[in-house]
Amino acid sequence: VAKHEGKNRYCLFDTVQEKASKTQLESIDDIRLALERREFVLHYQPKVNMRTGVVIGVEALIRWQHPVRGLVPPLEFLPVIEGQAISLEIGEWVIHSALTQISQWQSMAFNLPISVNISGYQIQQGNFATRIAALLATHPEVNPFCLELEILETSALHDISKVSATMNACHDLGVRFALDDFGTGYSSLTHLRRLPAQLIKIDQSFVRDMLEDADDCAIVEGVIGLANAFRRDVIAEGVETIAHGVALLQLGCELAQGFGIARPMPSGDIPEWISNWVANDSWRA
Ligand code: C2E
Ligand code: MG
Ligand code: MG
Ligand code: MG
Repeated sequence: VAKHEGKNRYCLFDTVQEKASKTQLESIDDIRLALERREFVLHYQPKVNMRTGVVIGVEALIRWQHPVRGLVPPLEFLPVIEGQAISLEIGEWVIHSALTQISQWQSMAFNLPISVNISGYQIQQGNFATRIAALLATHPEVNPFCLELEILETSALHDISKVSATMNACHDLGVRFALDDFGTGYSSLTHLRRLPAQLIKIDQSFVRDMLEDADDCAIVEGVIGLANAFRRDVIAEGVETIAHGVALLQLGCELAQGFGIARPMPSGDIPEWISNWVANDSWRA
């Protein structure tokens, strides 16, 4: 029966199953098709300095604009393809799209750095730095400084000699790095010293509970101290309330990202958001 129904089968199946399978992971074939059909989009979340009110950049976050299911978040499809060739193609698409976006904003006299998430599998490819150089070469108008690559602390630790060599090669191209979800990977001081990452992103799980949980607050404070000791910048992820911002500022962390500042949004909304945003009074005080 299914054979005769052809394309409609997909739709029938999907509407019937939709509710039950909301969290069900997608198949690799569906994801490949989605890339061919250009169904992936990047949303952008602002990163700000809470004290000065300056927007320091935006983080690109992939979403799947699914014809039936709507906007599918990355953790519902990226884990399915991690370690597969298709994940590298999507990774390249993300960098290429971010460079195109930087270029487009630049032509509006709007210079905004974009950070892009890089998977562990992606950074461990022997040709990663060469691919970054090739992608930058297709956008000669873009200052490489405007591209920041976010590497999970855990994937940077995986094969630290190889990963740090790759990071150094990219760093030589002018590209910057951030260590994402920091605090979850038990980096030693020695590790941190070897990685050319100018920015450390405190994992949102610690930030979320820092106001109620003294241990989480101690981790946040420890990461800020570590960043200061190594002269790296530090940003808190998952800043959901004004009070989080106040506590972070008291600990000496001025940079922040989170729903309390802005949710990720389509690229078209970014210029207006930036021109309207002002830091909270209790942050500037
Ligand atoms: P991440 O890089 O740590 O990104 C932060 C995630 O936290 C985003 O979820 C963001 O929407 C969410 N977030 C931001 N502020 C808050 C907040 O205040 N509260 C809460 N509860 N959440 C907040 P998203 O977009 O669902 O992405 C999840 C993860 O998927 C990312 O974590 C990143 O590891 C991965 N990811 C996203 N886009 C890409 C991509 O293009 N390539 C790769 N390799 N991974 C990506
Ligand atoms: Mg990130
Ligand atoms: Mg993170
Ligand atoms: Mg994360």
